[in-house]
Amino acid sequence: MSFLKRSPWVLHYDASSCNGCDIEVLACLTPLYDLERFGILNTGNPKHADLLLITGGVNEQNRDVVRTIYEQMPWPKAVVAVGVCAACGNFFRFSYNLSGGVHELLPVDVYVPGCAARPEAIIDGVSRALEVLEEKYQTRRRIAARLPEALEVGRADREDAERIAELELHENRYEAEIYGDYGLVAAALSPDGILERMDDTVFLKAAVDGVILGTGRVEMREGECVASRLSVDSRFRHRGVQAGLLAGAERAFPDARCYVVELRHAGRNALRDFRKHDYVPVQASEAVPQPVRLEKKR
Ligand code: SF4
Repeated sequence: MSFLKRSPWVLHYDASSCNGCDIEVLACLTPLYDLERFGILNTGNPKHADLLLITGGVNEQNRDVVRTIYEQMPWPKAVVAVGVCAACGNFFRFSYNLSGGVHELLPVDVYVPGCAARPEAIIDGVSRALEVLEEKYQTRRRIAARLPEALEVGRADREDAERIAELELHENRYEAEIYGDYGLVAAALSPDGILERMDDTVFLKAAVDGVILGTGRVEMREGECVASRLSVDSRFRHRGVQAGLLAGAERAFPDARCYVVELRHAGRNALRDFRKHDYVPVQASEAVPQPVRLEKKR
């Protein structure tokens, strides 16, 4: 494996298990099974973890916790659902507060069967997850090498709502950390919210081989074509995705009097990127976060 030169770290989270599967996860770390001999370490910090091992189904109390842990893990990351409860909810799935398996909330990469899952099966699941990590890493390299030539920009469909919500959430989280205003994270639209906005707003997507790398909203206001909420996957920033979205907005409304980009903030580097495409700042208020308006005259 070319990417996994260092020890992969695992974060174990008990979503709502009966503790049967958790005992088996801990058994993997005892001298009998000794997962550490493969260089795999157990960590309590999501920011250090490569793999998320979840036991139990997801219930209404911990949905946000599980989602936050996943969001805090650095890319590339993989999710291993350990046991039948994590796979589908098991016999608890008709319980009043259970959402079902982990896949209801997160993209699961590997399922480990069993009730409880055996340590050998868990170790096998972890080794498969390491292959998934390598595949994700190689896919990113492959796509990045083809940018910006292979980028296709067009109007997003309703089935893209989930990915658009994910990209906008990441952008809001990034801005929230800049301004220390975590209300921005809560203000991000859910996939259902995106679907509602699609009725009156054009959502653009920039994709390579069907993988959406960036998105933005475009609408006409009094003769101006206004682009906002430009959100680019952080793994593909500064590779022409944003420029592709701007060009897509201009193509979508060729008769606009001028083209406008609205940003919540813009650092010096971001402004320099926009200037390359003739967008110049015309307005910045004293508010924090500081909204920025950039214009491109026809
Ligand atoms: S799969 Fe079985 S052992 Fe594991 S958490 Fe569910 S009920 Fe418990």
